[in-house]
Amino acid sequence: MHSGSFAMTDWVYCLTDKGYRHEEDGVSPRLRHFRKNAVGILRGDDGEMATVWLIGLNETWNIGSADVEAVDVLKTGDKWPKKICNICHSLLAVDSFEPNQNNKHGRVRRPTCRPCRTDIDKRAPKTRQARQAETGGEETPEKGGTVQMSDLSETLNCRSNCENRS
Ligand SMILES: [Zn+2]
Repeated sequence: MHSGSFAMTDWVYCLTDKGYRHEEDGVSPRLRHFRKNAVGILRGDDGEMATVWLIGLNETWNIGSADVEAVDVLKTGDKWPKKICNICHSLLAVDSFEPNQNNKHGRVRRPTCRPCRTDIDKRAPKTRQARQAETGGEETPEKGGTVQMSDLSETLNCRSNCENRS
C-alpha cells in the first residue's frame, strides 16, 4: 500500500444509485439514493461494503462492493465512449452530452450532461426573448384568442362549403 496521492485505480463509479451516507454521528442506517453512475474515490473496501467519497455530492457513502467499479478517468471524455459530467460527476455515455461545435481536436461535446443542463435551464429566469420565442410573437394573445379565430374561420369555411353545395 503506497501512501500519498491516490492512484488512478482509486477512482470508481457506482453501478447502483443507493447506499448509506456517512453523517456527523456515523453511517446512516437508512438506505438512500444518489445519482447512478456517480464518480468518486474509493476510501476502503471490506469486500462487502465499499466506502466511497462521491465528488458530485461531496459526501462519503457506504455502497455495496459489487456495485462499485474502477474507472480510469484518463480514458473518459470526448475521445472515449464515456465522459464525466462537470456538475453531477456521473460517468455517462457520451450520447448523454449535447454535441458542441467542432474544434481542432475534432468533435467535442458539452461538459454538462443533458439532465444537468435541463436543471440549469429550469432554474434560469426566462429572458423576454426566450418568452417571445416560446409564444412566437411580441404580444401574448389572450388565452384561447387564436383558437377562437381558427374555430371561427373553420366554421365560416364549412358554412360557405355547405352553401356552395346546396
Ligand atoms: Zn450531470
